[in-house]
Amino acid sequence: MVQDSIQTLQAQGYKATRPRKLVLEVLEESEKPISPYDIQGILRTRGKQINHVTIYRTLDLLCRLNLAHKMMSGGGFLKCSLNAAEGCHRFMVCQDCGAIQEFANKELCREENQLARDLGFHTEHHLSEFYGLCSGCYEK
Ligand SMILES: [Zn+2]
Ligand SMILES: [Zn+2]
Repeated sequence: MVQDSIQTLQAQGYKATRPRKLVLEVLEESEKPISPYDIQGILRTRGKQINHVTIYRTLDLLCRLNLAHKMMSGGGFLKCSLNAAEGCHRFMVCQDCGAIQEFANKELCREENQLARDLGFHTEHHLSEFYGLCSGCYEK
């Protein structure tokens, strides 16, 4: 819900400005990752003009707050479906139908951090996308 995202924004001390609300609305409606250019286009068809820089800045903030994510594959933006779940948010991408499933697993993060630490690296964040087939496509 856009309302939940707005509450998260405000709880972190950010105002629910008009561009933030509008971008959140478009992300909420879109089931597939969407580019800043597409977001601007959709808003324009609704008579709302928001410049590119504002859209980029808004997306950047939403990603920092884990309210949205940027997909590594394709570079589109997607609304977070996990409601600030602990652990890094990761994606399984179906290469047939394009379905994207988001998940988080703190245990997995811990193991990865340990692996990195053994190699002398201090991890701040993990990004991962799994590629394959969703259960529906696999069974076809
Ligand atoms: Zn997420
Ligand atoms: Zn699929």
